[in-house]
Amino acid sequence: TVAVTIDQVGKSFGNGAPALSDVSLDVKPSELVALLGPSGSGKTTLLRIVAGLEQPSHGRVLFDGHDALSVPVRRRGIGFVFQNYALFRHMTVAENVAFGLRSRPRAERPSETEIRTRVADLLALVQLESYGGRFPAQLSGGQRQRVALARALAIEPKVLLLDEPFGALDALVRKELRRWLRELHDRTGHTTLFVTHDQEEALELADRVVVMGGGRIEQIGTPDDVYDRPETAAVFGFMGESSRIEVEVKDGVALAGATAIAAATQAVPDGPGLLYVRPHDVTLGLPGTAGLKGQVRAFRRHGAIRRVEIAVGSAVLEADIAPTVRVPIGEKVAVRLDRARLFASD
Ligand code: ADP
Ligand code: MG
Repeated sequence: TVAVTIDQVGKSFGNGAPALSDVSLDVKPSELVALLGPSGSGKTTLLRIVAGLEQPSHGRVLFDGHDALSVPVRRRGIGFVFQNYALFRHMTVAENVAFGLRSRPRAERPSETEIRTRVADLLALVQLESYGGRFPAQLSGGQRQRVALARALAIEPKVLLLDEPFGALDALVRKELRRWLRELHDRTGHTTLFVTHDQEEALELADRVVVMGGGRIEQIGTPDDVYDRPETAAVFGFMGESSRIEVEVKDGVALAGATAIAAATQAVPDGPGLLYVRPHDVTLGLPGTAGLKGQVRAFRRHGAIRRVEIAVGSAVLEADIAPTVRVPIGEKVAVRLDRARLFASD
């Protein structure tokens, strides 16, 4: 298992803004790193450059300190899984998994017996022992992605690249496969780059998360780092839902109309600013208790909780409360914000 170094990589397709600008990232051996970002942020382009399917406009990619860009794609030792399981439809599951081994030049090709043993081992690894004789059309979406993973692992890759591998599956299957992949990774220990636009998936799965935006890295950190200590408004906004409140900052205090909402936890220049607050960091109390004066404007059921819209000064923010708490519209409430969890930007 190898270390992957991405050093000042840029990519321009020659049409407007570059797809990647000076991206640098060190992936440790056996690490599982998630590339997280909205559509168009350059995740796929970066993965394709590591794989050798695309040449960077500048910068270097190193595997264990050795230049990978000069190594032909076939020799780079990459296992790649895409969102739309590119399984060969006319081949059985076992033939699909064996494909990479059978297409090696004769001198490097394992014997047919070895291939069969290896395919059986891989199908066991992805928990599809008895599916070798089936065709892709006879499998569920989740099973097909497990076959795609077995096929990627068959060539004993140095690096595993997964581009939204569960993106086409429904939410429940996706969650299941997420845990399953993490367990598989802990057993096999391949250095893995996992692309997703789903922050929950990235936070649950990865050792470290790389948040991308507009072809740049916004922040690199553990799931706790990027969720609890976002360095930019883009990262904060991308990590979960938040109310966005327009404020006027005066001496470091954010005002919504005449109401002082909060002191910013980081330096924000005086003038118009934005304050982001997560619904689960807002607590409601009885009127007259500590907190800002607010009034309930609306509420709706939101999964296991109830989400309430509250007017505070000129701002409207959302709070999550237990569905058993009664919050009539028009009710006056005291609103407390978790100060440590506010994010302000200019
Ligand atoms: P993501 O995977 O994060 O959605 P991509 O890496 O696919 O982002 O795309 C990043 C940017 O590069 C986008 O603006 C996209 O339009 C552009 N891009 C990607 N591939 C090509 C290509 N082959 N030709 C021209 N532009 C491309
Ligand atoms: Mg993509």
